[in-house]
Amino acid sequence: MPTMLKIAVQKSGRLQEDSLEMLRECGVRVDTGRDQLKVSASGFPMELFFLRNSDIPQYVHDGVADVAILGQNTVIEKEKDLDEVLPLGFAKCRLSIAVPKGTVYPGVDWLNGKRIATSYPNTLQTFLTKNNIQAEIHEIAGSVEIAPNIGLADAICDLVSSGNTLFMNGLEEKEVLLKSEAAIFVSRRISPEARALLDKLIFRFKSVLAARNNKYLLMNAPNEALPEIINILPGMKSPTVVPLAAPGWSSVHTVISEDRFWEIIDQLKEVGAQGILIIPIQKMIL
Ligand code: AMP
Repeated sequence: MPTMLKIAVQKSGRLQEDSLEMLRECGVRVDTGRDQLKVSASGFPMELFFLRNSDIPQYVHDGVADVAILGQNTVIEKEKDLDEVLPLGFAKCRLSIAVPKGTVYPGVDWLNGKRIATSYPNTLQTFLTKNNIQAEIHEIAGSVEIAPNIGLADAICDLVSSGNTLFMNGLEEKEVLLKSEAAIFVSRRISPEARALLDKLIFRFKSVLAARNNKYLLMNAPNEALPEIINILPGMKSPTVVPLAAPGWSSVHTVISEDRFWEIIDQLKEVGAQGILIIPIQKMIL
């Protein structure tokens, strides 16, 4: 039997769609229904296990699955020895403590003697211990944000991304315990054969991530503006410059990072670039 890489992904929940989309962009296709626990993929020697988010760290820890796509927050909470191999840039959130709006909150000591509702008791306890706070932790599985309103708790400790849920429930964020995003985690029990497959998959993931973070940029410019334009462009190598049919004009091509995108476009316009085109990149082999 040829080795298959066994990967655990969420059975349902926020991470599932983006995880499967990333795999698809890496050439891994999952054809069968997601209601099955175990599914073989095509396009890569891989078996997918669809599992409950909170159970995944244990499965990977025990080596039942070789790797998983999980939120960093889940791995920290479950305190399992999994190694992170690659952050994936989606499902970005933070674990924060929030209190009812208008609470006079001079600092973390306010939490002394209070009741805090959370689905992340271990991470919260670590934070409280570090800050010498004695508080009562109420572990609840979901809808943590309503706990203060129904008199169950004085504060909550929950995941926040936009802050909208806190706002809607009249809560204010006071402490950030950790920041998290989805990442690939690997089991310490992975076999050398599966590890070799993982390395191939990581190469594909990196190409997809690099493509997502970069854009292909094309523009026309008068030749006298070329030295300034080339100076502005932080391309992978030096930009490609090709003459246009119109005398005295060239077309400039390069790759720029998403982060610096608008700043660079403004500078290019100022020095005379015209007809600027921005094209998404499908894959970027580094
Ligand atoms: P779920 O199974 O849908 O509860 O998925 C939860 C995972 O999604 C968490 O462990 C986080 O890694 C991630 N996540 C990202 N943003 C948020 C958010 N605002 N609220 C809850 N989970 C989030």
